[in-house]
Amino acid sequence: MDISSIIQFVIDLVAVLLLALGIKGLSKVRSARSANRLAAFAMLLSVIGLISYYFGTTGISIQSWSWIIIGTILGGSLGGILARKVPMTSMPETVALFNGCGGMSSLLVALGVALFPNNNVDNFDFFISFIEIVSISISIFVGAITFSGSIVAMAKLQGWLSTPSWTQSKIRHLINIVFGIISLIAFIDLIQYSSASSIWLLVISSSLLGIGVTLPIGGADMPVVISLLNSYSGIAAASAGFVVGSQLLIVAGAMVGAAGLILTQVMCKGMNRSLISVLFGGTLSAKATNSSTKGEYTNITSCSVEECALTLEAANKVIIVPGYGLAVAQAQHTLREVTKILELNNIDVKYAIHPVAGRMPGHMNVLLAEADVPYEQLKEMDIINPDFPATDVVLVLGANDVVNPQAKNDETSPLYGMPVLDVQEARSVFVIKRGMSAGYSGIKNDLFDLPNTSMVFGDAKKVLSELITELRELGVGVK
Ligand code: NAP
Repeated sequence: MDISSIIQFVIDLVAVLLLALGIKGLSKVRSARSANRLAAFAMLLSVIGLISYYFGTTGISIQSWSWIIIGTILGGSLGGILARKVPMTSMPETVALFNGCGGMSSLLVALGVALFPNNNVDNFDFFISFIEIVSISISIFVGAITFSGSIVAMAKLQGWLSTPSWTQSKIRHLINIVFGIISLIAFIDLIQYSSASSIWLLVISSSLLGIGVTLPIGGADMPVVISLLNSYSGIAAASAGFVVGSQLLIVAGAMVGAAGLILTQVMCKGMNRSLISVLFGGTLSAKATNSSTKGEYTNITSCSVEECALTLEAANKVIIVPGYGLAVAQAQHTLREVTKILELNNIDVKYAIHPVAGRMPGHMNVLLAEADVPYEQLKEMDIINPDFPATDVVLVLGANDVVNPQAKNDETSPLYGMPVLDVQEARSVFVIKRGMSAGYSGIKNDLFDLPNTSMVFGDAKKVLSELITELRELGVGVK
């Protein structure tokens, strides 16, 4: 081993360790920002390792490593600009785009090695060549699916692409099976004969398979698909690591692949849906159409903002339940103002965070962090559920499915088995939403019919602004 290989090996080892620490840190809101920086630094370190290797290796021209520098500066600047410009609400589509880029780079690396093989390849023994061609085939197959699937997911979330009606019929399964079989034939042919025609057939059929599987999936299921595609991009990167002999890429790809799979499983569990039903089962609202859970409301109590303010004034303990509607209304800052007023009146305020509230993992944490809500006040579902019976007022803000008691009480409900927040246990519940429309699952919410629930109809931001006025008029929070 020459000195430049040893330096690169040590740098790669440090980069892998930092990356692992970064991924671990992402699991806590408090450490997430620094963990993200650590992981980015690990990636920079790996590029430095690669450049130092080329720099130290004799016989390699300056062009070889100068292209790496140009690519790093270009890619890094683009990533930096995107990260600064993209609003929080567009995070799912940004993640989808980044996954697509990951899939595309693995695909290009494998294509480069397959179409312009290094002369040394002939010197490899049969086993090494076999591993290499299998890795190339996996990189092309998974990389192409990840790329095309992620671009479709991004376009759908961005509103550039709608779900064509024919993709909801059973024909879509037949079409995808055909693409799958063609991909398999091309995959086997590539391993056997390494021909250019099988490479291109595999690229085309697996790209079409990625589009065919992602196109029929409804917008609200997209976050699950995106985390699955994230996992695929890790698998593609790991196999690209085998292709170019990079231990760093293998380990980093495996970590991303495993983390994406775990996140997919957590999200499916939080929504009480199997991955199979998300990928192939059509939309959840279609399932709810045939269900008894589409019934009429019989006991709705609506109240004014003033009544809500009067109840809040007399409360000691208040729990806020944020949901998708809060993000739609962009009412997080107004909500923070309301809770500040309540706290000035010595009212204990906490936020109940359901794992799949909103439309992406951690949606509510990100939204509330934007409004500088202290981390200590955000309580996860399992921690806060026992607190509801001792709570005076619960404010449900644009949340629906995550507070539906049907999930616990009605075995016929599509939500049955999904863990929910037990808000109905509190003394008074105020639900702030614009009308009686259903949430993402498309089903009736039994909470709205309960005697201790009152509906305050209106856009969340507007209602919260009026609440601030009412509370001030009542002298709440005025010292
Ligand atoms: P939800 O069930 O989708 O309900 C959102 C509610 O917000 C609606 O009932 C809507 O009622 C209301 N709303 C919309 N705009 C509003 C506005 N401007 N002001 C006030 N209210 C507004 O939301 P959720 O309780 O947060 O549940 C999330 C759902 O998404 C779950 O079913 C979950 O499984 C699913 N999901 C989550 C993820 C994730 O990663 N977090 C991913 C995929 C799917 P009105 O129209 O009547 O106002």
